[in-house]
Amino acid sequence: MAFKPLNTTEEKAIISAIQKAETQTSGEIRVHVEKICKSVNPLDRAVEVFFHLGMDKTLNRTGILIYVSIQDRKLAIIGDKGINEKLNPDFWESVKNSMAYFFKKGELANGILEGIRLTESQLGKFFPWKENDSDELSNEISIG
Ligand code: CA
Ligand code: CA
Repeated sequence: MAFKPLNTTEEKAIISAIQKAETQTSGEIRVHVEKICKSVNPLDRAVEVFFHLGMDKTLNRTGILIYVSIQDRKLAIIGDKGINEKLNPDFWESVKNSMAYFFKKGELANGILEGIRLTESQLGKFFPWKENDSDELSNEISIG
């Protein structure tokens, strides 16, 4: 069954979760939601969206994209080079599994919020927020 699209309250909760996360880490998190995944493997589509949104343009390559399609319920989460050099490669897989737990119950927003929360707690260690940090990528949800 397809996810219900995010309502305004859920969107606001997600945006403020991103804002909060970005006070803890220099990682730049974005969420992209679209109806149907245009590729067989959502990872391929996530990479495409990542570049399309210019997420590779951050100073220390710390962009993170959470990708979800709501009709066919596909999910991917990827990080840019700077992050993947430091994190255990299993990390994204474990975040994805935690998100999937909520998605199985049809809870799209809660799954996304969980992904943001886990990313924040892990990235805070390796990529702490620094004083001259700027908001390099918009915190708004990108709707495809
Ligand atoms: Ca930032
Ligand atoms: Ca941001």
